[in-house]
Amino acid sequence: MLLSEKINNAGVVGAGGAGFPAHVKAKSKVEFVLANGAECEPLIHKDYELMVHFPKEIVNGLELLIESTSAKKGFFGVKEKNVKAISAISSSLTGKIELTRLGDFYPSGDEFELIYEATGRLIPSAGIPLDIGCVVNNVETLYNISQSEKDIPVTKKFICVAGVVKKPASFFVPIGTSFKDVIEFVGGTKVKDYGIFVGGVMMGYLTFGLNEVVTKTTAGLIVLPMDHYLIKRKNQPEQNWHRIGKSACDQCSYCTEFCPRYLLGYQVEPHKVMRSLGFTKTGSAVWNQMAELCCSCGLCTLYACPEDLYPKEACDKAKTEMRQAGIKFVQQKPVKVHPIKEGRRVPLKQLIMKLKLQDYDAEAPFNPKEISVGKVKIPLQQHIGKASEATVKKGEAVEERQVIAKIPDGELGANIHASISGKVKEVTKEFILIES
Ligand code: SF4
Ligand code: SF4
Repeated sequence: MLLSEKINNAGVVGAGGAGFPAHVKAKSKVEFVLANGAECEPLIHKDYELMVHFPKEIVNGLELLIESTSAKKGFFGVKEKNVKAISAISSSLTGKIELTRLGDFYPSGDEFELIYEATGRLIPSAGIPLDIGCVVNNVETLYNISQSEKDIPVTKKFICVAGVVKKPASFFVPIGTSFKDVIEFVGGTKVKDYGIFVGGVMMGYLTFGLNEVVTKTTAGLIVLPMDHYLIKRKNQPEQNWHRIGKSACDQCSYCTEFCPRYLLGYQVEPHKVMRSLGFTKTGSAVWNQMAELCCSCGLCTLYACPEDLYPKEACDKAKTEMRQAGIKFVQQKPVKVHPIKEGRRVPLKQLIMKLKLQDYDAEAPFNPKEISVGKVKIPLQQHIGKASEATVKKGEAVEERQVIAKIPDGELGANIHASISGKVKEVTKEFILIES
């Protein structure tokens, strides 16, 4: 069986957060395959722990992809500071794979940055890695690809739980486990009132819902006290972000000067998107269309803006409205790296200070203990593409690793498997509930 078929059967999707079905990448023909072990979200250390404890599986996944895509070379991107991870991976590397040592900056894990660091190539504006002969996979995706070779499907997610919890840790969790169960597993919280950043404080989202569940793309939970600066900033009605921005943005352009995509040579200037806020009442066509090239890294909002405004959120809104209106931005200038790029990179330590997270900047060591859960609620949309279609019915008994939802015919998607053995309690268009 071809590797892409095995990956498809196993339901592997981009585990770094994107959720792109991995079998599609395995079918492509490229020059370079890149392993993304850059991990730059503050306080999240799950890729680091995975590289330290499962280097052979990750490198095997990379080798399998190099073979299936007929690539001539692989690159393994990892931060120079992660000495233990480098040592673990180096002992498993073969001649076809080169280690790319990265500085401790945010955002080193952005595909555009990583490809440029490793190969010197720049993805065309609004393009994808495939356009320049590359595919990139997060290290956990590579781990899952290695498992798929042995016909082991994705039923668990490796996550990091940190912040104001009693025992920060990284561990495997059955997909569909509630945040409540996850937080209990790390000993609970040190405070009564808190919020949860799902996937990280920079690119993730804030929730207070303990019944929300871990999916194939959940990188981690950062739990912060209710009175933390970041919760106050994020927990505001959306209209406030844009209303304040309209009147308070003085066009200083710091947001643009620190924008990593702008510094790589892409024509995105968030201060101009902020300027277009003043015209949004007249329709989506007046948004500054540069917003389309923003990767939502969050640096402009959470690091650069001296006024605590929301340029990233303005870009997000502009992107959504322009997509709905069918408007596409075409970059006129060639993509050319800004001469000051290196001098403007943001050290992670500095970002952590700015975000007032230094008190929570701790290790999250791998805990090999299995978390025991009696119930999982497995979403049918955990990936880019169409939601999967349930293949089981209410009342049916299922075994762990059994297929419970399949990709609709001819669509982009991923299969979904039972993450625990038990009985199907409920099936809806959105999820399947299983109780052991
Ligand atoms: S950094 Fe803030 S104040 Fe300055 S242009 Fe950007 S959004 Fe406006
Ligand atoms: S979120 Fe802001 S800093 Fe990041 S790419 Fe978008 S505009 Fe640039």
